[in-house]
Amino acid sequence: MNVTSATTKKKLFIDGEWIETNDYSELRSPYTEEVIAEIPIATSENVEHAINAAEKAKKVMAKMPAFERANILETLARKLEERSNEAAKIIALEAAKPYSTAKAEVDRTIETYKFAAEEAKRIHGETIPLDAAKGGVNRLGYTVREPIGIIGAITPFNFPMNLVAHKVGPAIAAGNTIVLKPASQTPLSSLFIAELLQEAGLPKGALNVVTGAGRVVGDKLVTDSRVSMITFTGSPSVGIGIRNKAGLKRVTLELGSNAAVIIDRNVDIDKIVSRCVTGAFSNQGQVCISLQRIYAHEDVYDSFVERFIEATKKLKLGDPLSPETDISALISPNDVKRTLLWIDEAKLAGATIATGGVAEGNIVHPTVILNADRQLKVSCQEVFAPIVLINKVKSVDEAIILVNDSNYGLQAGIYTNDVHTALNATENLHVGGVMINDIPTFRVDNMPYGGVKESGTGREGLKYAVEEMTEMKLVVWNRN
Ligand code: NAP
Repeated sequence: MNVTSATTKKKLFIDGEWIETNDYSELRSPYTEEVIAEIPIATSENVEHAINAAEKAKKVMAKMPAFERANILETLARKLEERSNEAAKIIALEAAKPYSTAKAEVDRTIETYKFAAEEAKRIHGETIPLDAAKGGVNRLGYTVREPIGIIGAITPFNFPMNLVAHKVGPAIAAGNTIVLKPASQTPLSSLFIAELLQEAGLPKGALNVVTGAGRVVGDKLVTDSRVSMITFTGSPSVGIGIRNKAGLKRVTLELGSNAAVIIDRNVDIDKIVSRCVTGAFSNQGQVCISLQRIYAHEDVYDSFVERFIEATKKLKLGDPLSPETDISALISPNDVKRTLLWIDEAKLAGATIATGGVAEGNIVHPTVILNADRQLKVSCQEVFAPIVLINKVKSVDEAIILVNDSNYGLQAGIYTNDVHTALNATENLHVGGVMINDIPTFRVDNMPYGGVKESGTGREGLKYAVEEMTEMKLVVWNRN
């Protein structure tokens, strides 16, 4: 397949220029393990250059009228639409995301940038009734929202285009500048977007893309005092490390989870099975709200398990570039090894591997585990692989306790026909979002999205990210 943007020696994008570095690393396809591009390894001097460029562009961006910021984002969305097949191939190639899923990610990315363009036009403050206080009589007070400044954006491999859009889109909408560090396995999507934003007329220095090791590039971004905010999506361990080093910077962390769904008695199983299979195995389970734990009421457990396994066995494994593929390679051979070890641990502890449990090359077969104990890694840690557990419960109340028995709390779902049970679940599930009659994997890009506990702090979703990426300033006029 001809993917021109993905087969060349790449460059850093700093201050509107494409910059070479001394050292390069080979980027390999997770599926074929063939080299697909050479990626610059940035030094801390390169990051310094990028931060300088972002600092210089700060005034230009802060003064740019809202309609111009919106225009740039709309133009980007249009250009991405025109080149959407190419964009999907890049994602499929660098992340081994099955092509149809990659195409869906591109479609969402277009929507995310469109939402960002709209948000750019509605950033506003409010008037404050200062005369509600005795000392505030005859004063006019209002707030405005100002850009926060330079944003350091650090992104993961699993949605290399849309999760970058969730940072770059609102940052531009709010009039900020950005230094972006994409995941080392998926830099091509970010460099492609930089190319389109350059064509769309983004001022130089407003977006800088610096590739290279997380520790080198990330550390410099997190510790440089000119960077006002770090927006990070990735694993809890890296996120917590960033938070500990960031001092007084604003930090938003979108981290992992072991998301769960509850299936109540009397639910029409046929209606929900294929949705649950999608939630468990989409992008090989490498989704932060991937369906990892299913708690099914004993009245429906057996029929749900039977149909779920039947549907799982129909998934097509193979080349991510083939439009028929449902499941392809995990992101790295190490993740394949780790996944198989976790499955072995479950087997040894007496859990049933109902289907899957093996790997072919870097593809792990979609795996269904029954009766897994709560202490197993596949239960209590984030699997980030095509594994789902199905356990039997006697009641929804019992299931709620099990869902909450987790260090994470991103989203949870419940299928039920009983309005009281649903309301009870919304009140008692300790997560950032509760989906009634859907899987926890539901996300559209304008909704507030984020977690509690080790799933992170702060919210994305364009309106909410713009709030995080702006500072509130109060203005008071004394008319006495
Ligand atoms: P990761 O290993 O934590 O990496 C994320 C990013 O952090 C990468 O760009 C990585 O760079 C960088 N990084 C690594 N070490 C760093 C350091 N010391 N300082 C600063 N940056 C550093 O995560 P991943 O494996 O790419 O992604 C999977 C994780 O992301 C899962 O836990 C998943 O749940 C989470 N996730 C969460 C959400 C959400 O919205 N809540 C969405 C998607 C994914 P390198 O690639 O160069 O190491």
